[in-house]
Amino acid sequence: MNICLNDKIFETLSSVVTSENVQAYVIGGWVRDCLLKRDHPEKDIDIVVIGSGIDIAKKAARKIHHGTKVSVFKNFGTAMFKNREYEIEFVGARKESYDRNSRKPVVENGTLEDDQKRRDFTINTLAISLNRETFGEFLDPFGGLDDLKKKIIRTPLEPDKTFSDDPLRMMRAIRFATQLNFTIEEETFNSIKENAGRIMIVSAERIVAELNKIIMSSNPSKGFILLEKTGLLKIIFPELDNLKGVETKDGRAHKDNFHHSIKVLDNISRNTDNLWLRWAALLHDIAKPATKKYLPDSGWSFHGHEFVGSKMVPDIFRKLKLPLNEKMKYVQKIVDLHLRPIALSQDLVTDSALRRLLFEAGNDIDDLMILCEADITSNNEAKKTKHLENFRIVRNKLREIEEKDALRNFQPPIDGSEIIMTFGIQPGKMVGIIKNAIRDAILDGIIPNEPNAARNLMIEKGIELGLTAVDQTT
Ligand code: ATP
Ligand code: MG
Repeated sequence: MNICLNDKIFETLSSVVTSENVQAYVIGGWVRDCLLKRDHPEKDIDIVVIGSGIDIAKKAARKIHHGTKVSVFKNFGTAMFKNREYEIEFVGARKESYDRNSRKPVVENGTLEDDQKRRDFTINTLAISLNRETFGEFLDPFGGLDDLKKKIIRTPLEPDKTFSDDPLRMMRAIRFATQLNFTIEEETFNSIKENAGRIMIVSAERIVAELNKIIMSSNPSKGFILLEKTGLLKIIFPELDNLKGVETKDGRAHKDNFHHSIKVLDNISRNTDNLWLRWAALLHDIAKPATKKYLPDSGWSFHGHEFVGSKMVPDIFRKLKLPLNEKMKYVQKIVDLHLRPIALSQDLVTDSALRRLLFEAGNDIDDLMILCEADITSNNEAKKTKHLENFRIVRNKLREIEEKDALRNFQPPIDGSEIIMTFGIQPGKMVGIIKNAIRDAILDGIIPNEPNAARNLMIEKGIELGLTAVDQTT
């Protein structure tokens, strides 16, 4: 019995295709991940039918649970339905031929082998029979089982054909190599290099979906190194490619910021599954090339790179078709603040600086600290320990201040309307000046974060500005 067909659902599918007298196979990701014993979060099963995938989908849905809704994509000849556990997609076996300028193929009916040929990699062509007489047998004309064992990504056809037909497959090759920790076979790899320019015909949405999967893998640097080596990075993400390289002057070299950035991404991946914090890690030094200067006295400087970097984020997100909403603002904020905890780990730091960081970072302070720790990429163990110890101290100090002053979600202890009432003034500039004075006094530790202290300061400040408190008892 084939362990990949252990589930009862395959029994049911088998009885449907047998009674309909058509050949059908489980193919692609399900088979691959089962053989790799890989836990796949989405349980999607792909079925290829020699005949009409849509017909079989409808019949199978009826058998599994009467009334299951089947979504039919007539243009693609596919249909799918979901139940509580699975998402099952059916496709009629097909033969594809492509036009050079698009990813849209001309499609005709084909044999199982035709269908396997049009798939991207040998490890994704593996099919298992669902038919009664051959139930559980592998159909593996392209050596997928062998490549799975050897951990190799290889195209079933001549790679130039596979990649030029659908250039998205180049991104998928690198994504699978990264997720599965596989090697891209040499001829396949060289072909990606040759065809990298063809990525231009793929939509940004499809590209970034693969990029996000690389970023969410456990060792994302592997993917970025492959993207760089194949020349894809330069095309899809030039700002990151631009971080490459080391310059030396007067015997002083700066670090390679590309390798540093992807190392930070690897580090942070051990501590967070938040895609956007991972993006912030990847982008934290993105403005180093733009701010790089050599100062004869002190050496290489990247002054302001955190600020300039945060300003580069919207453009990068727009081009990559990433969301331009609060996720982007979060990335900007983390990039902008990424040096602040380092400054705070220096000896003579005032509580006021700590309060200001808490105020600015708000609830993202913990994420910011995770990035700062991931940012330590020194190979010098003693240095590393020292930095980590410093950040531990910063974390403790932040905790103490937070307990005392609750600044994470700073709400002014008195609001504008109280200022207006107190002095009997109109809304306007004066109100802002007094509000800011109160906030600054709290952040600087001159007064505690409490209404009474704030009220006293308000009166004092108002008088300074020539206002008089009106008697509110009459
Ligand atoms: P995952 O679900 O982890 O992305 P998968 O292999 O299931 O992996 P899908 O995108 O769900 O990938 O596609 C299912 C199957 O369809 C693949 O295994 C592969 O056989 C085929 N396939 C998907 N996209 C392409 C493509 N662009 N070119 C050729 N074959 C593809
Ligand atoms: Mg899948």
